[in-house]
Amino acid sequence: MGEIGTLYIDGAWSTSSTGETLVIRDPSSQDPVGEVSAAGRDDTRSAIRAAANAFPAWAARSGAERAPFLLRVRDLLLEHRDGLAATITAEMGKPLREAWGEVGGAAGMFEYYAEEGKRVGGTIVPSYVTNRRSHAIRQPVGVVAAITPWNFPLATVAKKLAPALAAGCTVLLKPAEATPTIAVRLFELFERAGLPAGVANLVTGLPSAIGEEILSNADVRLITFTGSTRTGKHLMKGAADTMKRIALELGGHAPFIVFEDAVIDDAVQAAYTAKFRNAGQVCVNTNRLFVHESIADDFVAALKELVESKVVGPGADDATDIGPLVNEAALHKALEHIEDARTLGAQVVTGGHQLSGGRFEGGYYCAPTILRGAKKPMRIMSEETFGPVLPVTTFTTDDEAIALANDSSYGLAAYVFTQDARRCFVIPERLAYGSIRVNNDTGDGIHAPFGGVKESGIGLEGGPWGLDTFLVTKSVSYQI
Ligand code: NAD
Repeated sequence: MGEIGTLYIDGAWSTSSTGETLVIRDPSSQDPVGEVSAAGRDDTRSAIRAAANAFPAWAARSGAERAPFLLRVRDLLLEHRDGLAATITAEMGKPLREAWGEVGGAAGMFEYYAEEGKRVGGTIVPSYVTNRRSHAIRQPVGVVAAITPWNFPLATVAKKLAPALAAGCTVLLKPAEATPTIAVRLFELFERAGLPAGVANLVTGLPSAIGEEILSNADVRLITFTGSTRTGKHLMKGAADTMKRIALELGGHAPFIVFEDAVIDDAVQAAYTAKFRNAGQVCVNTNRLFVHESIADDFVAALKELVESKVVGPGADDATDIGPLVNEAALHKALEHIEDARTLGAQVVTGGHQLSGGRFEGGYYCAPTILRGAKKPMRIMSEETFGPVLPVTTFTTDDEAIALANDSSYGLAAYVFTQDARRCFVIPERLAYGSIRVNNDTGDGIHAPFGGVKESGIGLEGGPWGLDTFLVTKSVSYQI
């Protein structure tokens, strides 16, 4: 407790000019685990000004000169992995081993972009006339505002800040109000890594004042956002006035399709992971499971057995597989989706209720739930649940599976399980989703592109695509 100087502006820690603070609570107990400064508009303006002042010198360095800072951050993340993982678990509840994996993933992102940042080149454009030469050069876009969610409070930050800094941009980070402490820890590491003052700035606090300043301030040239589609639309509209670029990683409603020729054990294991990791609070988590009618009974029975073998409890307990939901609103939404589906005819296979008493006391626990007979207009078939609730629907033909899967305003991740080579190629081509995982539940690493279509977002993270977001291409022609 008592952590109040958590704004990092122009290389110095400070409290908010409003004097306000925000208490952070452990979702497994509601116990307070920290307190941060709640930045106002003036603080946000100062942070943007610091980033704008630092931009020319940082942008003027080569990628190779910027890389050592990022590699030092990678080293420090790995050195402090245990403590950072504990901070993530205390703030948002995920099991410690998932948090530990997240810290390793974040370190990998700083390593990858330290290298990728060295490879930003341009293009020689063949001229139409003999006495002209043309180049396309790529340069950092300018000051970047990064706004991140609580469900991967370190990885989503690293996914934005590593490529932004590697590209030569200076940044302002606004982490989620539920999970600011892990961002504070990261910025302490930035300081120790010797990042020059003003290159990375941190404003903790509530979204309204910070968001308004980010939107109206013309010095911010790009907003990179991960969060809900609702907030993404608000930012997209607000960015228009000063014509900022936007990169949006938004919500999802992932279909998970199991064909009759799938390796059932693999598909059951993957269906569990793709739904219940992080207690269902992942943008790419399965929202609808479609199983071929001929294997549905066996599949659901095996999945039920697996889910019931898992331990629900506080993330800090070593035995825990599934932690609490992040807050009361998240728990209510999951329970409402269950109740609505039940009222409209779904059958509860397992779970279906809140967990309370004993080790669950004070926490936001929803029993891992499987529902059969799910169909529209159940809310769960179109709204993101963001909780450990899995609705199952059967299908009989490939066309039916595709039609069911594509019946969504979202288009982030989709999963396909089949051993048929033709289906492996053709089904992904027919799915209106940006990240499709065939016979696996995780997708590839930071080197691969990741992003959504439709209302799941604009732009890509990962690989060279993730760096392109932070670059502008300029055309230069020479008369010779
Ligand atoms: P959210 O939109 O409520 O909040 C995300 C961030 O935006 C937070 O930092 C919040 O403070 C900030 N914010 C909210 N209103 C704002 C405003 N008016 N101005 C400026 N900032 C504002 O989302 P959430 O509940 O924190 O996160 C869950 C959502 O994020 C889910 O929909 C999930 O699918 C999505 N998500 C997407 C990805 C992806 O890569 N596509 C990854 C993780 C989470």
